[in-house]
Amino acid sequence: MQASPSPALIEQSRRNAKRLAKQTGIRIYQAQDQIAQSHGFGNWSQFAKAGNAAKPAPASTSTPVLAPHGPRRYLHGDQDEGNPAVYYCAECDFFGLPDHFLERHRVPHGARALAAIERFQRSPSDYTSIGHRPENPPNILQPDIEAEKLAGAAREANRSPFHRWLEQQRERDDPVGDLAYDVMRDKKFPSGVRSLKEAKAYLGNGWGRRDAVRALSAAWREFEAVASHTAQTAVQQR
Ligand SMILES: [Zn+2]
Repeated sequence: MQASPSPALIEQSRRNAKRLAKQTGIRIYQAQDQIAQSHGFGNWSQFAKAGNAAKPAPASTSTPVLAPHGPRRYLHGDQDEGNPAVYYCAECDFFGLPDHFLERHRVPHGARALAAIERFQRSPSDYTSIGHRPENPPNILQPDIEAEKLAGAAREANRSPFHRWLEQQRERDDPVGDLAYDVMRDKKFPSGVRSLKEAKAYLGNGWGRRDAVRALSAAWREFEAVASHTAQTAVQQR
């Protein structure tokens, strides 16, 4: 039998699967299966189940050993509670010295850290394997996180209603949800996009494969229906 994957590994793998899906154009569930197989499991659900089984069981007698919300969860740049000299790098999945965070990584540090914090805050409370994290724990990337927040505020000010609507669709389990996820990760996507034509032109030249472009059309139709239902929007696309 395979070694039980840690909850952190499952969580990391889940992110890797989304990235893999984005990079290769395969569906997220296919990417998840591939990653599960690379760890020696038949498919993703077996892998995830084994990860849940690996969670430390609550002490059967006497005092509970776990914090109420599971083990400490470290996000990118968080200081190690047991060793203040080192900080967690989520990209490398290890605790490194401050120098480590001067090295360039695939994802800029501030962006990764802020995204992780936001994702953590959005996580459903019943997903206990994500563990607990104190409010504002020491994090070596704090200045980068603040800078990223400012950059995000500037981007936010320029976003179109479609882009804002699409962001709300990220958790959906359908092609629109997958598209939304990919678009929101794509910092080059024209977030001020005002027409379907403009969005299609970008996707067609970029990572958009045919089903992404199809999902985009479906998303736009749905957005328009919602928008015309709720407000006097300035969207011109038919
Ligand atoms: Zn690293």
